[in-house]
Amino acid sequence: MPIYNAPTKDIQFVLHDLLKVSEQDIEGFEDLDRDFTGAVVEEAGRIATEVLHPLNVVGDTEGCVMENGVVRTPTGFKEAFEQMKEGGWTAMDCDPDYGGQGLPYVMHTAAQEPFVSANMAFNMYQGLTHGAYSAIYAHGSDEQKQKYLPKMVSCEWTGTMNLTEPHCGTDLGLMRTKAVPNGDGSYKISGQKIFISAGEHDMADNIIHLVLAKIQGGPEGIKGVSLFIVPKFMVNDDGSLGARNSVACGKIEEKMGIHGNSTCVMNYDEATGFLVGDEHKGMRAMFTMMNEARLGVGLQGYAQAESAYQNAVAYANDRLQGRDVTGVKNPDGPADPLIVHPDIRRNLMDQKSFVEGARAFTFWGAYLIDRAHKNQDADADGLISLMTPVIKGFLTDKGFEYATAAQQVYGGHGYIEEWGMSQYARDARIAMIYEGANGIQALDLVGRKLAQDGGKHVMAFFEMVKTFIKENEGNEALKKDFLEPLKAASKDLQAAGMYFMQNATKPNNALSGSYDFMHMMGHVCLGLMWARMAKAAMEALEGGASDTEFYETKIATGRYYMARQLPATSMHLSRINTGGDTVMALEAANF
Ligand SMILES: Cc1cc2nc3c(=O)[nH]c(=O)nc-3n(C[C@H](O)[C@H](O)[C@H](O)COP(=O)(O)OP(=O)(O)OC[C@H]3O[C@@H](n4cnc5c(N)ncnc54)[C@H](O)[C@@H]3O)c2cc1C
Repeated sequence: MPIYNAPTKDIQFVLHDLLKVSEQDIEGFEDLDRDFTGAVVEEAGRIATEVLHPLNVVGDTEGCVMENGVVRTPTGFKEAFEQMKEGGWTAMDCDPDYGGQGLPYVMHTAAQEPFVSANMAFNMYQGLTHGAYSAIYAHGSDEQKQKYLPKMVSCEWTGTMNLTEPHCGTDLGLMRTKAVPNGDGSYKISGQKIFISAGEHDMADNIIHLVLAKIQGGPEGIKGVSLFIVPKFMVNDDGSLGARNSVACGKIEEKMGIHGNSTCVMNYDEATGFLVGDEHKGMRAMFTMMNEARLGVGLQGYAQAESAYQNAVAYANDRLQGRDVTGVKNPDGPADPLIVHPDIRRNLMDQKSFVEGARAFTFWGAYLIDRAHKNQDADADGLISLMTPVIKGFLTDKGFEYATAAQQVYGGHGYIEEWGMSQYARDARIAMIYEGANGIQALDLVGRKLAQDGGKHVMAFFEMVKTFIKENEGNEALKKDFLEPLKAASKDLQAAGMYFMQNATKPNNALSGSYDFMHMMGHVCLGLMWARMAKAAMEALEGGASDTEFYETKIATGRYYMARQLPATSMHLSRINTGGDTVMALEAANF
């Protein structure tokens, strides 16, 4: 049975030593002192460890089952969902007008990490509901908000997002699901959606489907897409449930991972739907919640790597194989533990330095979302918009890479189901695909976000890195190990940006390098996070912090990232500079 312990100390370090949340001039942040956030994170960690984590393997092995149109979630999911609802964990950052607790998004993110690490498939039922809540909250009418949001905040009703169809995933302009006005303000929705997470299950009284469809007679392609609320059970004016709507689950998909989450084919057969926002503006409504949803998926990436890493460390300390090349460490045993070997250390350091950097990057992203929303800060909004594809694409690619790296520590035992390591790899894999496949994140970054608002946001990011380096130049402890590598990596990133500008008229050159650029930018962001974390840890030590081992470990882990991971930017730059010729050299027939 795999283990999981919520890394509460590391979470607190990011919230307080790095982001200094309680000192930020953002509404609601003044309450986020160490005691308060500590209590929340400890309790989230306890639930994750005691309630959700034991159900992770159960969810994986049992999966969801459909019988006579009813989808059953794995044993124990229903009871655990009740506990999440009762504890108010589904409502943390939601508006108090609808029953939420109104906490900052960064606090919601801090509590989400243990839940996702402990049981990603389970947490998706609530995660999807939160996404649907955000879309209705931002674009729904007052009446719709009153009708649906309180029950969604409490998760008595869950939510779904219905975009994908058999012939259209990335290219939503090809959508065929249609909406025909009924003449009373409602619409008849007909069509088939596939791969719908939490589309049907037995944990809620009602399911509020958010469905993209084309109103007949509207513009062609993506410009003709509108967003609709399609409840599983109609909701009467007094809030009671009415007749069953004509939406049904056709089947649940067999899939590689996240077996505990029901991935459904949903059939809409003249189902009654209600327009959210304006006609033909469905994509705008979807994009409103994209920053949050994609940040949530980025979190899934590193949170799975965190769980896998914890197990790999335990195994490396336990498994006896070979002897330490510098001298025997376990003379009473037949061999030394794996953890003495440099190659195992390299692997574990890769995982550890990624996960801790990724946590900082994600929480910083959540903080930017709070700053953008609560302070109407356009610069923070621009910055998080730029960072969103990086958080989603880079953190999920690396999250999967390190979940499999953790498997590697187990040798053959990592491949055998008994140890539970393959689940981390299988579960982490989907995060690279949904919420926009990672190739599309790279396309979004290079094709759209770099040039957004005249390139203002990427310039602001470069300036932020430059300012940090300049302000700390006199800090000898940071200079060689942190500032110099950060400067070199940032220079690589700027050179790649320049290459794209010079090749703006040759799209194949730019887009052949977009994936490399996304990874480069991810490395620079984690490099910046590590330099800032190292500074924070040094300050804590200078200030007489008692837990010297914790802070010294932080600094050493950061040094590893800067020395061994960050130089990847130069390889990515070399690849970008070769342009698209070698990428596009073959005719399609030659593959
Ligand atoms: C388990 C699971 C859960 C899901 N949950 C949901 C859900 O709740 N709601 C929902 O609506 N959908 C959901 N999806 C669907 C998911 O979002 C899509 O699978 C994803 O967006 C990709 O679409 P596609 O599979 O049709 O791939 P395609 O769009 O066919 O893309 C295939 C590949 O081509 C690449 N590609 C496509 N177009 C371009 C281009 N222009 N340039 C470069 N590369 C390109 C993509 O990056 C991808 O690698 C889920 C999928 C799975 C497997």
